[in-house]
Amino acid sequence: MRIRYLPETLINQIAAGEVVERPAAAVKELVENAIDADATAIDVDLYQGGLSRIVISDNGCGMNSDELKAALDRHATSKLPSDNLLDIAYLGFRGEALASIAAISRITLQTCDHETQESWEIACDAGTKSDIKPSAHPKGTRIDIRDLFYATPARLKFQKSERAEYGAVKDILTRLAMAHHAIAFTLTHNGDTKLKLPAVLDEQSRLAAILGRDFSENSIQIEAVRDSAVLTGYAGLPTYTRGSSRHQYLFVNGRSVKDKLLHGCVRAAYSDVLHRDRHPVLALFLELPAADVDVNVHPAKTEVRFRDPQQIRGLIISALKQALHSDDGFQSSTAMARDTLSSFQTPALPVNRGSQPAVTRAYIPQQGSFHTQVSSTHGSLSEANHTMYAPAAKVENVVDPAQDNHAYPLGAARAHLHENYILSQTDDGIVIVDAHAAHERLVYERFKAQMQERGIDKQGLLTPEIVHLDDLSVQTLLGWQETLSKLGLEVEAFGAGAIAVQSVPAILGDKLDIKRLILNIVDELSDYDHSDILSEHINHILSTMACHGSVRSGRRLNPEEMNALLRQMEATPLAGQCNHGRPTYVELSLKDIERLFGRR
Ligand code: ADP
Ligand code: MG
Repeated sequence: MRIRYLPETLINQIAAGEVVERPAAAVKELVENAIDADATAIDVDLYQGGLSRIVISDNGCGMNSDELKAALDRHATSKLPSDNLLDIAYLGFRGEALASIAAISRITLQTCDHETQESWEIACDAGTKSDIKPSAHPKGTRIDIRDLFYATPARLKFQKSERAEYGAVKDILTRLAMAHHAIAFTLTHNGDTKLKLPAVLDEQSRLAAILGRDFSENSIQIEAVRDSAVLTGYAGLPTYTRGSSRHQYLFVNGRSVKDKLLHGCVRAAYSDVLHRDRHPVLALFLELPAADVDVNVHPAKTEVRFRDPQQIRGLIISALKQALHSDDGFQSSTAMARDTLSSFQTPALPVNRGSQPAVTRAYIPQQGSFHTQVSSTHGSLSEANHTMYAPAAKVENVVDPAQDNHAYPLGAARAHLHENYILSQTDDGIVIVDAHAAHERLVYERFKAQMQERGIDKQGLLTPEIVHLDDLSVQTLLGWQETLSKLGLEVEAFGAGAIAVQSVPAILGDKLDIKRLILNIVDELSDYDHSDILSEHINHILSTMACHGSVRSGRRLNPEEMNALLRQMEATPLAGQCNHGRPTYVELSLKDIERLFGRR
């Protein structure tokens, strides 16, 4: 075999393999071109998931005849005036997209130059260009692509279903629309309108149009600056989560990116309030000087590289954490409460058969200054913890109504139901608290506070507890010996396949199942990505330990204990959610209750 120079068409097809691997990628390139052309309205029409036809029209600046001739050539671009790859002011810059698409499909371009008002069109069939000819196109540019993989039929076989391709296009268009709220977008599929997004004045309105009212009601605005980097956007509350990270929309300088570093930051920021299986919904926009970010590292430009990753990491994590810890942490999701309430308004529903819980998630209570209302009515948590280990009882525990705690945000405890739930009365409604979940959060926050102040108090064991484990687990644990010791948990090697536990965190009390705790910590450590920073690990371990120290369902609480728990919740950051992001309490106002009974 001899080395040879590849023919132009083949070169273009190879490039197309990277740039337009599926219809969504072509749509992305073309919509980006329209955005770069200063369009204020962009319409995308898709047929059969974009495999048979894609039409994209914009009202942007258009091209003159010379530009139209050059546009379909490789490495022809109007977007790199300064020859500096770190000074990119447009979404495009490689001059490859149109050439790649034209190499494999049948494409027609019509365009009207905004300066001369002249219209021209050109066609291209699998890389073979026609001459340009005058056109009657009124404004902007219209690109009509038929049979995207016409010249590379093998590629067609790799495409997913029409539906999946359509879904990918919609996702990409949605992301572009989030970053460009002043542009109107429409999307049709096989003639049906699928998206209709009018131009709006701010990011928030666009996000609400795309992510829905629930998101706007259950998210916190983010605004943070570090040096020359600015972060804005909206972050979902920890109680408003999804099973995948697909709903995290991250943008760098107006470009949607799927960047590992950024997703890692989000995970780190929420690690305290979310279980690892749950993912927050958020839209974050990072703006930084063009010279501080390299966008030329990925063929579809969806990954970026930062000049100072630590700066970006610090900015994002601290901004998110600050937002999540604001508002006293008394935040829960409104979404479910409203849905459930509205379903109850349907008279046909069997409300009085108790077949459904009235509300399965909490909503945001009136934001009061909770901290100032709290008095120190309770002892230390470890005391409270011990009393909470009282023997289980099956009876309900009804509290003397004379006791006056109504004025507190979480009200006065009235009953302990089903050996877990505390029912309490507030000035204008009722609150149901999941005592186990709430206590878990309290222990966890307490742990963290203790950690910060003086390290966690240990309680030595009279006789060390021997826990038998496989060798790998023993190694893992011993690798963390020093850190665990700071957390109050002293472990030592104990022959082959065993460790000896010398002390446990005092806060966990003496009824602790040490073996189970150790096993869970081993799981925690081996699941966890070791490249992550230490404090995240520590929080995970603390969280795991907190679960073990929590009131288990099935223990009877007396009125003082219940009220103490409520008062502690009011004084504890993030007490609105357990460590896994579930709400710890739900609140029903009298208004809501009256609505349930059709009184309103
Ligand atoms: P790039 O966007 O990287 O420059 P493309 O192949 O996507 O490369 O486009 C080549 C050139 O064609 C662009 O630089 C731009 O000048 C012109 N162009 C493409 N699409 C449009 C459009 N919708 N409106 C105006 N000009 C366009
Ligand atoms: Mg382009």
